[in-house]
This record gives sequence, C-alpha cells and structure tokens, in this order.
Amino acid sequence: MQPQANGMKLHNFNSGPSILPQPVLDEAARAIHDFNGTGLSILEIGHRTPWFQEVLNEAVASVKKLMQLDDAYEVLFLHGGATTQFMQVPMNLLDTGDAAAYCVNGIWGSKASKEAAVFGTAAVVSDSADKGHTYIGKDFDVPAGAKYLHITTNNTVEGTQWHNYPSAGAPLIGDMSSDIFSRPVDFRKFSLIYAGAQKNMGAAGVNLVVVKKEILGQVKRRIPIIMDYRKHIEAGSLMNTPPVFAVYVSMLTLRWILAEGGLEAMGKKSKEKSDLLYNTIDTLPVFTCKVAKEDRSQMNAVFFLTDPALETPFLDLCKKEGMIGVKGYRTVGGVRVSMYNALAPESVQAFCTLMKDFAVKHG
Ligand SMILES: *Cc1c(COP(=O)(O)O)cnc(C)c1O
Repeated sequence: MQPQANGMKLHNFNSGPSILPQPVLDEAARAIHDFNGTGLSILEIGHRTPWFQEVLNEAVASVKKLMQLDDAYEVLFLHGGATTQFMQVPMNLLDTGDAAAYCVNGIWGSKASKEAAVFGTAAVVSDSADKGHTYIGKDFDVPAGAKYLHITTNNTVEGTQWHNYPSAGAPLIGDMSSDIFSRPVDFRKFSLIYAGAQKNMGAAGVNLVVVKKEILGQVKRRIPIIMDYRKHIEAGSLMNTPPVFAVYVSMLTLRWILAEGGLEAMGKKSKEKSDLLYNTIDTLPVFTCKVAKEDRSQMNAVFFLTDPALETPFLDLCKKEGMIGVKGYRTVGGVRVSMYNALAPESVQAFCTLMKDFAVKHG
C-alpha cells in the first residue's frame, strides 16, 4: 500500500525519523495487537521474557551478519539517540588528560567534538566550515597519542558522505546514524560504530552501538553503570528496561534488509537513486548543488535554487504534489532530499519529473 493523503500518493523524503519499509510497518502494527500469536501486544510483554530475548537475539545476529563481524565485537541496543553517544563515547574512552581527534564536517560532528571536550581534549583535525561544509576534508594528521579518531560517515544536514574511510593510526569511531546499512563497507576498520535508529534502521528511541571489546576498560574515571559499555555487554543490553518496541522495529528492518539481498542490494539501489537525482540537478540550470562531486551523499542530497526567489515556489509545488520533507535544514536552507533504504526508486523518479517540469516553467 502506498501512503496517501486525500487520495494523493505521498513520497516520504523525511530526513529522520523517516520512511520505513511497508512490510515492517505492517508487521509492527500487527504486533501491537498480537505479538506472534501470544495474544499480548509487543507493548505489553516483559523485556526478560523468552519472547523479547528472541527479538534481541535476532537483531544482534542480523547486525553481526550484515557487518561480517567476529567475536572481537559486541553489539548493543541502548537508550537514546546519537546525541547520547556524543557523550557516552568520550566518557568511556577518554581520561581527563587524554586527547581524541575529531573530523568536523558538519553540525553533528561539531556537536560530538564539543561533548568530547567535557571529558578530555577534542583535537579538531579537519574542519570543512571554511566552505560551508560542502566537502569532506581528507588531508590531516592525527596527533600521536590520540585515543581515537571520530568521523561522521554521512553528514545528514550538509549532504556529504565519506566514500573511503581514513586510516587513522588510532582506533576509528564512526557516527553512522544516517547511512548505516545503506551499502557494503568495511565495518572492521572501526573500533566503535554507533547509529540512532530513526534514519535508516527503525523507530526513534534506540541506538545501535557496535564496539570492539579491546578498547574498553582503559579509563580511570568512574562511569555511571547506565553509561558504561562494559556493564551493558555483561547484561546483554538488558541492564534495565530497553526500548522494547524500538528494538523490535529495528529487528524487523534488519530482517527486511537481509530478505531484500543485504547491503549489496541496498548499495545498488542507493547508487541508482542518488545518481538519478544528482544527474537531474546537474543538467538543470535552475538547480545548484554546492557539494563537491566526490563527497556527495547517497542518502541526503542538499541543493539550492540557483535563483533564491524560486525556492518558495518550488517548495510549495513539492508540497502540492505530495513530496514530503524536502525543505533544507533550518541553518542550511535550500532543498534536502533524503533517500534512505526504504524509499522506492519511483519516488526519486517522481521527484525528478517534478524538477524537470518546474525547470521548463521557470528556466
Ligand atoms: C540525526 C543525527 C544525529 C542526532 O541524532 P539524535 O537521535 O536526534 O540524537 C547525530 N548524528 C547524525 C549523523 C545524525 O544524522
């Protein structure tokens, strides 16, 4: 079933929370009434029941399978959003006298580095603010002794994405909130990966954290148990009540990704969708994309009307035609089209047709 409002077909380009696969929504809706024939709602079952344990086990196993990880890594589902991880990462890995390196290529990396400065020294080794974060700065050195290097693998707001991860000489940490499971990458390059679920993996309220055990347990500070990765590992993500429904929706989405052909299939679809959109932008002079070509994001395309006076008419047209969530981030402006895994290629095709029609009228 295609989403509709007043008989009009909708195309959901929201940046997050964002579109989910229809089979996931259908199954989750069923489970709210009757979870797996138990007669109880998924919202009503205990988190220590065998029923929920199965959900968690499948979610963890799916992550390990998709990432091709061995037992050096632990998979956790923790409360909060990626913003919680901005703090939890340095709290667990950085002592007061330590330094960590941060690549700042947008608003989220900037926020992450500021949280690190609460616990130690955050050395910003590259910052693309000089060009409005329209590129990824790849030419930098990580200071000797840095405890880790932190990157934002996809800059949701600015529309850039790392297409080759840096070799750090220090444990690499990635905020993958907005491109997790969107294509095959070498996850083993990372010592810690985190992602808020609500962009490409599920419902808001849960974080996926994948951590290599060897980097833990090296700080001297006391860590509150709810913030301590090692305690969560010991408890198997069940130290306290986890966000049961959000974990369940992530499990269903992971199951859907695997059924659709895994990361190869996701990557192929993402490339086709984003190639089509960027080609359309580049061939229509009415639109301008300022992002460096080699750094363009396959998840979030950020672009502008060449004549700013046309922005409002274009966004009004989008609204009229059922194109949801395409207004750029409040600090950036312009247009942002998010193309997460669940977005059908037909939605990007429909959007490109609309762009061409608009260009004919206003070119
Ligand atoms: C959305 C987003 C965040 C913030 O996530 P919250 O769940 O709202 O805390 C952090 N990093 C990236 C890359 C994001 O896209």
